Amino acid sequence: MAEPLGLLGGTFDPVHYGHLRLAEEAREALRLAQVAWIPAGRPPHRAPPRAAAAHRLEMVRLAVAGNDDFLVDDGEIRADAPSYTVVTLERLRAQMPRRSLVLLLGADAFLGLPSWHRWEQVLELAHVGVAARPGFALAPEAWPAALAQACGGRLGRDAGVLRESPAGRIVGFDMTPLPVSASGLRVRLAAGGSTRYLLPDAVREYIERHHLYRMADGH
Ligand code: ATP
Repeated sequence: MAEPLGLLGGTFDPVHYGHLRLAEEAREALRLAQVAWIPAGRPPHRAPPRAAAAHRLEMVRLAVAGNDDFLVDDGEIRADAPSYTVVTLERLRAQMPRRSLVLLLGADAFLGLPSWHRWEQVLELAHVGVAARPGFALAPEAWPAALAQACGGRLGRDAGVLRESPAGRIVGFDMTPLPVSASGLRVRLAAGGSTRYLLPDAVREYIERHHLYRMADGH
């Protein structure tokens, strides 16, 4: 079986170093061949993104430029439909019937999984890699009941299980805690504050050039 492919979905409004470290540490810890970044077009669970889809896609392209281990999938941006992860996984699974696919999630996103559209099918289509804080075990006892009931038995000890089947297991990996968030960045940007060292310079310059996230820009 080919080495697993990581999948990192998100709004990326804007992309920042928390996302980049998540992808990089997942790639290393789970021994992924590559990580595909999948910006959401119309995220169904939250308020519409502040920046237009084309801008968010371009910022992700700038953030991963020059790294051959990262690639960008614009399928959700191009689809004129709500960006449901399960639909994206069905598309990728049709293209790669036997490939091990690993959906990468921050621990916060993982705990919210039961609110996702057709969430139980997500684990039939892909594995899930969960970024945990070092020293905090990924324990089903601490999961919401629906998640523990449906997924408790799927928890694997290490990255080896991701090579045994194309989908269906959950593996945690330690991640350097970086409490940077896109919402925090948007607040800083609206207030004209510095975002230096929180996101790549190329992304910062793009935001400046296109006047994104300003208080009065109306979106
Ligand atoms: P917002 O603040 O607007 O909610 P965000 O910064 O959390 O945005 P998203 O695009 O919603 O960014 O996140 C995409 C994925 O990245 C999610 O799985 C989320 O858990 C994860 N993630 C975001 N920020 C971090 C971070 N600082 N460390 C680890 N994972 C992160």
